[in-house]
Amino acid sequence: MKVLKFGGTSVSSVETVQNISNILKKTNEKQIIVCSALSKVTNMLTEAAEKAAKADISYKEICNQIEKRHHDFIDQLINKDQQGDLKSIIHNHISSLEKVLEAIYFLNELSTRAYYIIVSFGEKMSNAIIYRYLSIHNGNVGYLDSSQIIITRTVNGKEHVNRSVTYKNIQDNWNDKYDIMVAPGFISKSENGYATTLGRGGSDYTAALYAAALDADSLEIWTDVSGIYTADPRKVKNSYPLPRVSYKEALELSNFGAKVIYAPTIQPVLEKNIPMKILNTFRPDDEGTLVTNETDESKTIKAFSTMDNIAMLTFSGTGLVGTTGIAGRLFGALSKNGVNIIIISQASSEMSICLVIDSKDANKAVEAINQEFDFEIRKCTVNKTIAETGYSVLAMVGEGMKNAAGLTGKAFTALGSNDVNIHVIAQGSSELNVSIVIKSEDAEKALNVLHQAFFNA
Ligand code: ADP
Ligand code: ASP
Ligand code: MG
Repeated sequence: MKVLKFGGTSVSSVETVQNISNILKKTNEKQIIVCSALSKVTNMLTEAAEKAAKADISYKEICNQIEKRHHDFIDQLINKDQQGDLKSIIHNHISSLEKVLEAIYFLNELSTRAYYIIVSFGEKMSNAIIYRYLSIHNGNVGYLDSSQIIITRTVNGKEHVNRSVTYKNIQDNWNDKYDIMVAPGFISKSENGYATTLGRGGSDYTAALYAAALDADSLEIWTDVSGIYTADPRKVKNSYPLPRVSYKEALELSNFGAKVIYAPTIQPVLEKNIPMKILNTFRPDDEGTLVTNETDESKTIKAFSTMDNIAMLTFSGTGLVGTTGIAGRLFGALSKNGVNIIIISQASSEMSICLVIDSKDANKAVEAINQEFDFEIRKCTVNKTIAETGYSVLAMVGEGMKNAAGLTGKAFTALGSNDVNIHVIAQGSSELNVSIVIKSEDAEKALNVLHQAFFNA
């Protein structure tokens, strides 16, 4: 059996939905299809929630637009006499959505739980429509309610999938009497029973969970580009799709900003060694990218990616020199507060440690560090940590880098001669990724400069 995931742009027009239906007809294998919300709907739901929390009544206008968009989509896709109660299913979802938004409007407060409920309507509505369409055009189709099957657990305020329970639920609910089963992406439920999600871009992950739980023969991620490119095709005109990359390379790229795959997607398929293909719904005959354990040895660097909204923290002071346990306390303080560290670099003088984190965590991180080292700061052996924002990380990724010399030198020369200043550089011990921190205003130029130097020269 195989699992196919279709992203938001793939479920937004009559043409792409017909493409989906035809793609599913190409095989006799049993299939699970995981769909995202219609393109931009998750953003609209988020906007409505934020407006309601600010007591801005125009959230209602957004609800009307969302309802109209789904009703129009139904009319374009399905003949009136075959629509059944589909429009009233959508209407009921919109009514429930409005009730939650109204509560937020009166409370002036958007809790995490309420946010999860609101954004989950996007996938519920899109998958209801796809389910009906495929039942008409693709025969024997069943439904898997991911909102009850995918189970999350809260760790440090973040939702993580409880994989053993989720896998068991998937195995118990999958029914091979159906040729195709439709399963909404992104949505899940906490162990305590309230609605949660797998994070923005999380439908890829949903598909990987279904694939791993059922030991699928393959996972296909259908999107709006023909595979994993040498760089984001929206930012680098000359970029091109890679025929194959390894799981490790795909993980590294997605961790460092390549939105084409949501990073948590890789682990479940890697563990089960399930081949993953990235394909284009708009050009179904393109080759796409195959992701497996193997890599294409002929290339040292595979691709570049950038990650924006980065902050740099400098933790410094004479008290760091030769003192053991400082780094442990530093990382402990951050982890207790749910701050994820992207890059760490320490100069051999040991006078300072530089931490690279997401800008949204900057204030929380600074507070946690200054509180932890309050005593040392008052003794003047540790300086108060401050955060500088406005940075980006540029990652060069490829398994072949470990056997090649001079690549970083070449990158530095290319960046230097184009006036791009490098603030931090870090290489993972796996030598699979060299990350360079630069000012965000230089990021797109730097990406193009490196792409030109390594791939188009
Ligand atoms: P979907 O809605 O199908 O999940 P996404 O928008 O999440 O699609 O991901 C696809 C987008 O990822 C592409 O349109 C592209 O702009 C972006 N992207 C970023 N880096 C890469 C890359 N290296 N290769 C391909 N696409 C990339
Ligand atoms: N609809 C969700 C989002 O936009 C999940 C997904 O598309 O993968 O983030
Ligand atoms: Mg995506």
